[in-house]
Amino acid sequence: MTLLEPVVEPQLRVERRPEPPGEVPFHVTSVTEQDIAAVVSVMRDGWLTTGQRCVDFEHDFTEHLGGRVTSLAVSSCTAALHLALEAVGVRPGDRVITSAYTFTAVGEVIRHLGAHPVLADVDPVTGNVTARTVTDAWRRLTPSARRRVRAVVPVHYAGLACEMEVLTALAAQHRWAVVDDAAHALPATRAGRSIGTWGDATAFSFYATKTLSTGEGGMLTTSRPEVAARARTMRLHGIDRDCFDRYRRKDAWRYEVVDAGYKYNLTDMAAALGVSQLGRLHAMRDRRAAVADRYDEAFAGVDGLALPAHAPDGDVHARHLYPLRVLGGVSVRDVFIRELAALGVSASVHFIPLHHHPHYQDTYGVVPDDLPGATTLFQQEVSLPLFPGMTPGQVEQVVEAVPVALARAERQG
Ligand SMILES: *Cc1c(COP(=O)(O)O)cnc(C)c1O
Repeated sequence: MTLLEPVVEPQLRVERRPEPPGEVPFHVTSVTEQDIAAVVSVMRDGWLTTGQRCVDFEHDFTEHLGGRVTSLAVSSCTAALHLALEAVGVRPGDRVITSAYTFTAVGEVIRHLGAHPVLADVDPVTGNVTARTVTDAWRRLTPSARRRVRAVVPVHYAGLACEMEVLTALAAQHRWAVVDDAAHALPATRAGRSIGTWGDATAFSFYATKTLSTGEGGMLTTSRPEVAARARTMRLHGIDRDCFDRYRRKDAWRYEVVDAGYKYNLTDMAAALGVSQLGRLHAMRDRRAAVADRYDEAFAGVDGLALPAHAPDGDVHARHLYPLRVLGGVSVRDVFIRELAALGVSASVHFIPLHHHPHYQDTYGVVPDDLPGATTLFQQEVSLPLFPGMTPGQVEQVVEAVPVALARAERQG
């Protein structure tokens, strides 16, 4: 027996630890024996950080998207957004239009670049920005601020792709770059084309709750060679070639720092997990879609609820979230979540919009009424458990709990 065996062996059982009876967690990351073996094999290699597995992950990700983009593995979606916006030329004082209905990651990296986020409202049904809401956000700016808009960052909320053909045409008219936040949108398509192949660059997340997970991780994809080259350099300290290459060339010790870059590379352990997960990405999506279809069937026609938006016929919805809407008002929604918890079902809310947070309110003077679509959706939204490993029993527990919790909430709310 080698020394490693007793250490690795108990870990193989982690995924099979049962949930406490009667509890449906909000999310459980899907990890198979094959995933674990892939990570362990890296640990036996003697090179834990960026190396061949990252090269493989980037290659497979590009293949998955149809082959026409460069994929760069990074440490998070936040890192991918930061690198992409830097690479498309966002500079201090610039403006970047983005969705108010999202996580703070994109807003914060815009600030790190010395630029300012301009919050666009969303369609209160889809949670996505539209050409109209983006144009409204631009119109609210002063003429001099309008000229400083450098990019627009659509967010594909819950895994439903934005109207990319419309948004990219609008951006082209204005000469804005398009960097889309696809943290929810793997795999997703719009007008038959994969998310990750539209616009100037796309950022994906492999955070623990996302549709492909390496714990922490992300991918930047781009079809523009100069964006790829810039992001590749800035991803690792502004060094002009990858660490991996460095150890395999003659004069392996020589490198040049060409700018003050970032430390945003991915480890080979994470990349190995990514390669393994990518192999069953569609199976995992089909499983989430089956759960979402069951919810749709169960909750259609329940008074006081509205179902999540569907993708247009022929397009793929990634089904990252199941954003149910509770129509009876924010206090009913809040009690509904507590009553679901009392019935053993953990739900969440995506998102508290950016213009409801103190940082954005204090810095930009925004208030909830400024963006009524985002505020309406925020007051209605409840994300139900949706993950590939949900058992039929867990799905039915949610199906039974929802109307009971709603009736209780409507009495109290
Ligand atoms: C999760 C998430 C992010 C951040 O992803 P990280 O990989 O954790 O940086 C960004 N945008 C949205 C919409 C997200 O849901």
